[in-house]
Amino acid sequence: MPTDASESLTDFIRTIPDFPKPGIQFKDITPLLLNPAAFENAIDEMARIVADLEIDVIAAAEARGFLFAAPLALKLGKGMVPIRKPGKLPYKKRSYSYELEYGTDTLEMHVDGILPGQNVLVVDDLLATGGTVQACCRMIEDCDAKVCGCLFLINLSFLNGADKLKPYPIFTLVDY
Ligand code: AMP
Repeated sequence: MPTDASESLTDFIRTIPDFPKPGIQFKDITPLLLNPAAFENAIDEMARIVADLEIDVIAAAEARGFLFAAPLALKLGKGMVPIRKPGKLPYKKRSYSYELEYGTDTLEMHVDGILPGQNVLVVDDLLATGGTVQACCRMIEDCDAKVCGCLFLINLSFLNGADKLKPYPIFTLVDY
């Protein structure tokens, strides 16, 4: 279902100033989710830019990463591994704590989600500082698996998150 040729992905990304705190320009993807043709185009485009990668499984951190990782995994015919905030996953877990600007955060993953030697594509809606996806990549490497790429719908390039993810190939659809 193509969108009108004159419409681009950025037409469906709304910038909300000062959310959730003063000074943050929040990129709101809900208009994209509301438009099936635009959403489908975004997933098709994500699939296209990673077409040459050898991917065994797709991993994504909650919550907005799931919105893109799940349809992409279906389209590519791959499994998807959810990476979650502590206390959400029911089975045996592996966890990883990482530094935030103030304090620390922790992510968890089921121990049987990613197998040694697998090639893993990490997907998120937006690359800001890169801390979240860097933590996902570390956890994937702790499984003796390989991060074959990190894919984002949006890159806030002025925050230089790509520097933090330097060892990995980075793919982004929209750069601000
Ligand atoms: P980071 O770890 O700093 O790369 O950002 C982690 C997550 O925070 C991203 O996956 C986004 O979901 C969210 N995020 C950070 N900054 C923004 C922003 N300006 N607009 C929308 N979401 C954001």
